[in-house]
Amino acid sequence: MIRKLLIANRGEIALRILRACRELGIATVAVYSEADRTSLHVRFADEAYPIGPPPARESYLKVPALLEVARRSGADALHPGYGFLAENADFAEACLAAGLTFVGPSPAAIRAMGDKIQARRLAQQAGLPLVPGTLDEVADIGSALATAEAIGFPVLLKASGGGGGRGIRLVTQAEDMAAAFSSATSEAAAGFGHGGVYLEKYLAPIRHVEVQVMADRFGRVVALGERECSIQRRHQKIIEEAPSPAVSPALRSRLMEMAAAVARAVQYEGAGTVEFLLDGEGQAYFMEMNTRLQVEHPVTEMVTGTDLVADQLLVASGEPLGYTQDDVQLRGWAIECRITSEDPYHDFVPSVGVVRLFHEPGGPGIRVDTGLYDHMEVTVYYDPLLAKLIAWGRDREQAMQRMRRALREVHITGIHTNIPFHLYVLESPEFQQGQVDTGFAERALRAWQRQEGEQVDVALLAAALVAYHERRTGTERPGGAPGGAHRGRCVNPWTLTYRPGPTAWTRR
Ligand code: ADP
Ligand code: ADP
Ligand code: MG
Repeated sequence: MIRKLLIANRGEIALRILRACRELGIATVAVYSEADRTSLHVRFADEAYPIGPPPARESYLKVPALLEVARRSGADALHPGYGFLAENADFAEACLAAGLTFVGPSPAAIRAMGDKIQARRLAQQAGLPLVPGTLDEVADIGSALATAEAIGFPVLLKASGGGGGRGIRLVTQAEDMAAAFSSATSEAAAGFGHGGVYLEKYLAPIRHVEVQVMADRFGRVVALGERECSIQRRHQKIIEEAPSPAVSPALRSRLMEMAAAVARAVQYEGAGTVEFLLDGEGQAYFMEMNTRLQVEHPVTEMVTGTDLVADQLLVASGEPLGYTQDDVQLRGWAIECRITSEDPYHDFVPSVGVVRLFHEPGGPGIRVDTGLYDHMEVTVYYDPLLAKLIAWGRDREQAMQRMRRALREVHITGIHTNIPFHLYVLESPEFQQGQVDTGFAERALRAWQRQEGEQVDVALLAAALVAYHERRTGTERPGGAPGGAHRGRCVNPWTLTYRPGPTAWTRR
């Protein structure tokens, strides 16, 4: 059994892994960049070591620094979390060479699935339908054009080593190929160290549905149902749920069988996710496999009653998985909203600064996975994910009710978040009916921006009228600050939000 685990990550996922370790009696070692010295994962770990300056490539991506901490601390295993080095086969290999247990699949499995083209080949051999497209990289603009004509526009150019929604370009007509090809290849070269791209038919409207798998080293592969991840912006997930409103029990069994077949094809071990595109006729196409814990794993945990991180740690320790496919039963419905430090009123520009106040929601069915705390500084260095808000209900209706309620309970001041957009989506009839596709969020965003624009006009008009009235009646305030009735007092803005007018909370 693992005794001491090095967590090679930060933020909410580092805390999530720490918590599983605490429950299993595994000692924890945190690492942190100079920007994260006061982070919760640093405070909660048994030991913590600095590994370098804020930029990830000088800290969280620095393999020698991580291995040195493992040696100094006496850790016997390493969990990579998601992002950073989680899908880096060379890193997994380096861990094994240093005598560490790597909490994840074998370097060979990571390598096979990290290359999207090789993954497509493997999936095809395992009998899965692929998204129509190439099984080789396209060498240059000329062959990309010829292939696209053969497949038929629109097509997607995809980086074979890509991930995180990057290195993907939509090409709707031949004239746009040259520009798309060079920007995709350069983004891929910069982001993934390899500029190779291939082509897929662009399917639309389409859903993103994925299957969670868990496998042990004794050949047991269990599929834990699907997640619906169609609410995306720029190919990145914003809201996920389990199960999918578009998946019937028969389709679910088929998807789970296909996912397990892919996992078996690479002798998979640990937690992994097989992603599919699902069309309106219930036809599923293999898209890719992520060889790691997924950001949205909590929705699966909520409906299956599993602890995927604990399972990862057990399986990595060489234990057999404690349940079989027949034990898997779905109960209720779970939805996750990714709360990010992005300003939805200004095209989701990253919002940085000090979080002055964070109030966490609670109550029945609510789970919050976050590394956020009062006075935390949000910087430009890392992913904008601040918190994952997860709501469970006996059915989809109740999960949505709880999510809407919990989103309104959150208070994060000092920086902007995407919560207003989450509320807009949760309130939209299409989402409520489960009628979504991967283009839904961007359409909703445009509609929302139009609506907000109109409301800003109304607000400006109202403010102008008030100013006019005050000048006429001689009641204007110095500096034009709002709240004439509170003049001279400092009102707690948190209270004001909910209780218009003076209250017992006001201070002189
Ligand atoms: P999930 O399906 O778990 O949400 P994402 O694709 O959103 O996965 O990726 C999770 C995290 O990992 C994000 O921070 C993303 O930026 C990062 N990520 C994913 N793939 C890569 C990659 N190949 N290289 C670098 N970062 C990646
Ligand atoms: P990443 O490794 O960055 O996660 P994926 O291959 O999983 O890349 O694709 C990311 C997203 O892009 C998908 O969730 C889906 O919304 C969209 N997408 C990918 N391939 C296609 C396709 N062939 N047709 C339509 N949409 C696609
Ligand atoms: Mg993907």
